[in-house]
Amino acid sequence: MKTPADLLKQLPSIDRLLQHPLLNQISAPHCLIVESAQEVVQQCRQTILAQQPQQNMDIQLDTLAEQAVQRLNKKLQPSLCRVINATGTLLHTNLGRAPLSDEALATIDSVARGYSNLELNLATGKRGHRYSHIDALLCRLTGAEAAAVVNNNAGAVLLALTALARGKEAIVSRGELVEIGGAFRVPDVMEAGGVELREVGTTNKTHLKDYRNAITDQTGLLLKVHTSNYRIVGFSQSVSAAEMVLLGKEHKIPVMEDLGSGMLFDLSEFGLPREPTVREAVDAGIDLLTFSGDKLLGGPQAGLIVGKKWAIDKIRQHPLARALRIDKLTLAALETTLSHYLDRQQALDKIPVLRMLNMSSDELHQRSQAFTEQLASRLGNHADVTLIEEASCVGGGALPTTELPGWGLAIALHHQSVDLCAAALRQAETPVVVRIQEDRLIVNLRTVLPAQEPALLDQLTAACRTQESD
Ligand SMILES: *Cc1c(COP(=O)(O)O)cnc(C)c1O
Repeated sequence: MKTPADLLKQLPSIDRLLQHPLLNQISAPHCLIVESAQEVVQQCRQTILAQQPQQNMDIQLDTLAEQAVQRLNKKLQPSLCRVINATGTLLHTNLGRAPLSDEALATIDSVARGYSNLELNLATGKRGHRYSHIDALLCRLTGAEAAAVVNNNAGAVLLALTALARGKEAIVSRGELVEIGGAFRVPDVMEAGGVELREVGTTNKTHLKDYRNAITDQTGLLLKVHTSNYRIVGFSQSVSAAEMVLLGKEHKIPVMEDLGSGMLFDLSEFGLPREPTVREAVDAGIDLLTFSGDKLLGGPQAGLIVGKKWAIDKIRQHPLARALRIDKLTLAALETTLSHYLDRQQALDKIPVLRMLNMSSDELHQRSQAFTEQLASRLGNHADVTLIEEASCVGGGALPTTELPGWGLAIALHHQSVDLCAAALRQAETPVVVRIQEDRLIVNLRTVLPAQEPALLDQLTAACRTQESD
């Protein structure tokens, strides 16, 4: 039997390992090749030292080189990469929320590949403004007088609060003190914006008189926040936008609403609960509205702000607007996404989130059934694959109580735990994210783009055929 000292002596030098043809001829940054070789040798050294008594270990240069190549390939993978979302949750913040339309992607490509007229007025040759590319479109789609756009909706809310009410009080209902995932809390954002929070009403009921009684000469804003990720049901009451606008007019105090998702369509067309559209809020006379670009709108991450011209002017001129400004890639994708909304059918056909939202139970049944058959025949006795009724949720803090009925697959594994299999799927070449429920993997095709189905089938086959002891 070899002693640890014998084995350590057998370890190649880094230089020798680097001479191996596998590593010598590979095309990759030199520092990463060296690092991979060092890590492999180091790991081997630690294994030798840790094994008591020594197992019959053999140190092969070829094996070490192969291991180094594997490590190198991992290092060469970009960290941010495409993932197949088989959870059925349409707007998954951890998975990047809304996928973009083909046209939006093409616009990004053509704008970003070279230079653009981001801030150049091509008609006059003078300096233009980046908002000019979307403000007319946003006004046309929402009926607002003016528009601006920033990095995200959290930024839009912060900017709007600060620009309208810094050093003053904003009155908010206790039923609307929302926390969004990722530590966005309305009271904290107000504090950051230098706006004093004046809470009124109770969790379940707020009346118009509660707002009226709280108004003093310190009041700078009446704020309404859409309770996008929860619902207060039962014995509850809130004040409508229109009532708040009347009160604001009476006291010459601006009214702002954070709409969260901000739909341009009436969602009841999809059999979903009615949500106020942006246009309705504009028509109600709200001075300033904010909403996200990458929730139900189905575009890139952005914070859209529409409203009265005087309020938008304040926003645009505020120094924070520069800090929160939107970049050209986002602007390119946003303009194209918004342009899809000029025609209702086009929006439904082209915007992936709307297509998924609108996908019928029949269509999901058909896709899931065909997929079940293919997967079952590939998996044989490794797993039971069954077609199940499976509802989706919208996610991303939108429509919290709504389920979209549909179909999916349940996979019960025979030779390994579902947790291990789910982990393997996350590590796959094209990572796959699934749900686990009652010891089964649940695959929902609503959020899987049809072009991703073959890759999904391959990854599921590979991960589910693995045996625990492998
Ligand atoms: C999601 C949400 C936000 C934050 O929007 P982001 O675009 O994620 O920054 C703010 N307010 C409400 C009501 C929301 O639902």
